[in-house]
Amino acid sequence: MVSPTELSGMMATAPLVANFPAQIEPTPGKQILAMIRDQALAAGAEHLLEPAEAVEFSNGSPFEVYTGGGTRIARTILVATGAMAPSDPLPGEKEFAGLGVNYCTACDGPFYQGLDVLVVGQDAEAAREALTLSQICRSVALVAKAKDLSFADDLAEQVQAADNIAVHLGMSIKEIVGEDAVTGARFAGPGGEEHVLNADGVFLYVRGRAPATGFLHGTLQTDDEGFIITDESMQTSVPGVYAAGDVRSKQIRQMVVAAAEGCIAALMAERFITGRGKVRSDRGR
Ligand SMILES: Cc1cc2nc3c(=O)[nH]c(=O)nc-3n(C[C@H](O)[C@H](O)[C@H](O)COP(=O)(O)OP(=O)(O)OC[C@H]3O[C@@H](n4cnc5c(N)ncnc54)[C@H](O)[C@@H]3O)c2cc1C
Repeated sequence: MVSPTELSGMMATAPLVANFPAQIEPTPGKQILAMIRDQALAAGAEHLLEPAEAVEFSNGSPFEVYTGGGTRIARTILVATGAMAPSDPLPGEKEFAGLGVNYCTACDGPFYQGLDVLVVGQDAEAAREALTLSQICRSVALVAKAKDLSFADDLAEQVQAADNIAVHLGMSIKEIVGEDAVTGARFAGPGGEEHVLNADGVFLYVRGRAPATGFLHGTLQTDDEGFIITDESMQTSVPGVYAAGDVRSKQIRQMVVAAAEGCIAALMAERFITGRGKVRSDRGR
């Protein structure tokens, strides 16, 4: 169970953010998060540092949320618990966080203009990110544990056609290596032999991420991976319960998207409480 702190979640772990609206200079995620928190507190929000452990949604509004601090009752609920990567870091991964270890091309790709990077992963996401990085970087090595890559033909053709992408198969990542910053990664090859590939940055797509929805105990409709399904009003399968941010079923997980969805959900929640506007679920339409 996650124990929220004053500044926790994915955003707090983003070493430098350069793509949030109104930013001029790259800024630590924690700093942006602190400003957002202060803004919410100034607007009258209360921040309770209590993990949600279970919910009672079956009787409709008002809803109950059971937390480490007791039972909380609310006329409407917004689930924004995010999606964290499972935590079994590689050797060197934590040491070089913010110093060359990356998880998101849209977030950190621009820092590697004209440099050499490794993309470690074997799914379509890793291939797409390698293609994006190939437009920015001098060279991209796409390194996969599998002996064959199984993404769609057109993606495979694009990867093969990119003259600055090299594909290394049958390589299992063992360690991120570096000194003051990342200098590459160490792999075990198909026969167990050691390879070190040099690079200025490593983009990891090896673990996936899991939505933080355990406390819901299946009360909301989710997709096959457990992300919460909503309609365009951010309403879930239970009227009056909304979801926003990384925990929601969707393609793009970025701070600006989470903030925008939070805005939509908050406005719709207000309508739900005051009885204005639609409250009926129209998922699937
Ligand atoms: C290393 C890294 C770099 C990134 N860089 C960028 C970037 O440059 N630009 C960008 O746009 N995006 C970036 N992202 C993605 C961005 O951080 C996420 O898209 C964004 O934080 C999602 O916001 P969220 O509120 O949905 O989830 P989160 O930020 O993960 O917040 C979820 C919150 O819910 C709390 N929580 C979870 N479970 C419970 C529970 N049971 N009870 C109570 N509280 C709970 C958590 O403690 C946390 O406070 C990055 C992500 C990572 C990991």
